[in-house]
Amino acid sequence: MADRKAAARRLSEARRVVVKVGSALLVDADKGRLNRHWLASLAADLVRMRRRGQDVIMVSSGAIALGRRHLKLGSGRLKLEESQAAAAVGQIRLAHAYKELLDEHGVTVAQILLTLGDTEQRRRYLNARGTLNTLLALGAVPVINENDTVATAEIRYGDNDRLAARVAQMVGADCLVLLSDIDGLYTADPNEDPDAEFITRVLEISPEIEAMAGGSSSEVGSGGMQTKIAAAKIAVGAGCHLCIAKGAFEHPLTRIEEGARCTWFVPSSTPVAMRKQWIAGTLRPAGALTVDDGAARALLDGKSLLPAGVIRALGRFERGDTVSIMGPNGAEIARGICAYSDADTARIMGRQSAEIERLLGFRGRDEIVHRDDLVLL
Ligand code: GLU
Repeated sequence: MADRKAAARRLSEARRVVVKVGSALLVDADKGRLNRHWLASLAADLVRMRRRGQDVIMVSSGAIALGRRHLKLGSGRLKLEESQAAAAVGQIRLAHAYKELLDEHGVTVAQILLTLGDTEQRRRYLNARGTLNTLLALGAVPVINENDTVATAEIRYGDNDRLAARVAQMVGADCLVLLSDIDGLYTADPNEDPDAEFITRVLEISPEIEAMAGGSSSEVGSGGMQTKIAAAKIAVGAGCHLCIAKGAFEHPLTRIEEGARCTWFVPSSTPVAMRKQWIAGTLRPAGALTVDDGAARALLDGKSLLPAGVIRALGRFERGDTVSIMGPNGAEIARGICAYSDADTARIMGRQSAEIERLLGFRGRDEIVHRDDLVLL
């Protein structure tokens, strides 16, 4: 138990937490109604974490399960158009429930519906990331689901486990909790094999670990242990801890913090270190920015690069590409992700950030390379 409490600090001490809840927890399987009482206890947990200064993001399933009942679509397999319609009807009810429950605590809810393209295409990924970061900075709790109404079979996640992992990676979360109808990973399916052993900690997702994940056991949601392992690979690869825990209790997050049994996937690095490693490892930066003396000193002090400090831009690059940053003598001093394309950089370099909107016709970031996106060499 002491061990479990120590492990639980990964949740209580995380800076940024993503919590995914499955349909089976949110929606009553017989009646197809929202488990409001349970959701209220989860909302109270989220509020407690926010008050403690943690950023929290919800990835919530349940739209299709709720909508199908409302549309009286029966319990069989839905056609694509039917699940799209069910999602449209269910999502509004789901979002409304989150809003009402968090409103009671004075916490603002923001709904974000993502499609696969929003996480896989660089430009859209950066946009979604920017919006999420802004919402968190403003104190809101984003509630995310896949945009099932427009997603088609070929271009959708279909399960929120992997979507949640991509969101965790996108926002540099240090902890992702998958609340499920099972308390974690077993060596075999515990419903079929009485000798199945529980696994509390996974340090490496080996082929043996992957082999332990059988098919999906829940009838309401789409994710099984396989999608959870796939999610764990993404999360751990981004330096994020992932916890699979049983959610069918009131205050499910408090329970984890108190040492409830769950499986932790442990990464070997932190999100910031992983991100910086990735930037430093870019084989071929798309371009280069030469900076003046003052900007070079500011970078060495851990500051961001502002347009005012850039004296020359070379190469063809898009917003989001990695560029080299050269000191006035031409030596590479840093690498970072540029917030502007080469053409826009040419227009704003040497100018004050307050002039960006007038020069470009849109209000971009104040920093041309933000310090979180930058590594000194
Ligand atoms: N996005 C789906 C929904 O809201 C759920 C996907 C899943 O079960 O993981 O109904």
